[in-house]
Amino acid sequence: MSRYFSEKYNGLTPYVPGEQPRERTYIKLNTNELPFPPSPLAQQLARKQAGDLSLYPDPDCLLLRQTAAEFYGIGKDQIMFTNGSDEALNFAFMAYCDEDTPIAFPDVTYSFYKVLCALNRITCEEIPVREDLSIDPEDYFGLKKTIIIANPNAPTGICLKKEVIEKIVASNPDNVVIIDEAYVDFGGASCIDLIDTYDNLLIIRTLSKSSALAGGRLGIAIGNEKLIADLNVLRNSLNPYTINRMTMMAAVGVYSDRSYLESCVERIKAIRQAASERLTELGFEVIPSSANFLFARNPKYDGNRLYQDLKEQGILVRHFDTQRLKDYVRISIGNEDDMQTLTDTIGKLLEVKNEKS
Ligand SMILES: *Cc1c(COP(=O)(O)O)cnc(C)c1O
Repeated sequence: MSRYFSEKYNGLTPYVPGEQPRERTYIKLNTNELPFPPSPLAQQLARKQAGDLSLYPDPDCLLLRQTAAEFYGIGKDQIMFTNGSDEALNFAFMAYCDEDTPIAFPDVTYSFYKVLCALNRITCEEIPVREDLSIDPEDYFGLKKTIIIANPNAPTGICLKKEVIEKIVASNPDNVVIIDEAYVDFGGASCIDLIDTYDNLLIIRTLSKSSALAGGRLGIAIGNEKLIADLNVLRNSLNPYTINRMTMMAAVGVYSDRSYLESCVERIKAIRQAASERLTELGFEVIPSSANFLFARNPKYDGNRLYQDLKEQGILVRHFDTQRLKDYVRISIGNEDDMQTLTDTIGKLLEVKNEKS
């Protein structure tokens, strides 16, 4: 750090994204990207924008909001777009919490939430998940704090039922409850249709996962018009042009091509099922997943060791070095061939281990 760096950022530990290696080609099963390209329509509409990049994009994202609102069955003033959902999360944290208004979330969840608390000097309360890494909803009933829950949760893939989320939202009427639905297309039930009933429900989505637009950076906030107006004040105070032309039109393409999304999701679910079965045969405990990744551990294979051994074999998975998660690896669902290579490789690694011992 330079000596000019503001003291208020002392001790800030930035989020560590999954590796995006350039030194060799890996089978990348570490950052939950979709292993398929974006919708052909999305690609085509994005390409058409290249010649207009000299012009600013529409700061209101009107065409995109209209197309998306129709897709989700909501009003165009109930939705706002951001540069990736991490940005939407930041605006929500800025808007609804501070030092005296803490935010509560599970101790096992998306690690970015803690980083955002440190950045914005927000008090956070981490609520321990159960022994099996599932969330106990009772912990959140009538909590009287701002709450954020990823549903399905990361990195476990465990999903809470919609009725349960509704109870959390209904029992905290004086606080905003944020539901991060980054993975909901892969198995969970969305709470979007509850936003007209509960003015304290804010849903965060992303086109990075199921819509194959991670490189385009598009996040979504959905909720009551007044919540969305709050977030727009912050967005327009920072940068009204966070959504670039190519991404904006790519997303219009995504929302105009529902069947592509559905076919990708079906394919991921089938691959997930097959991979989960093979890992179970190899002695893994696999947490039933509602997301596009598997969280699994093998009593005979240390999590960090497995991560390292796979990396040596050209396969990247994610390992989290915390007490509760260190036995596990998180494996993003790749295409059929990549998952076959993964399980074949693990099978061989286990054989070598057995011969040694
Ligand atoms: C991936 C992810 C996000 C962030 O996605 P963006 O690429 O920033 O849109 C948000 N929440 C969870 C739980 C995620 O896994």
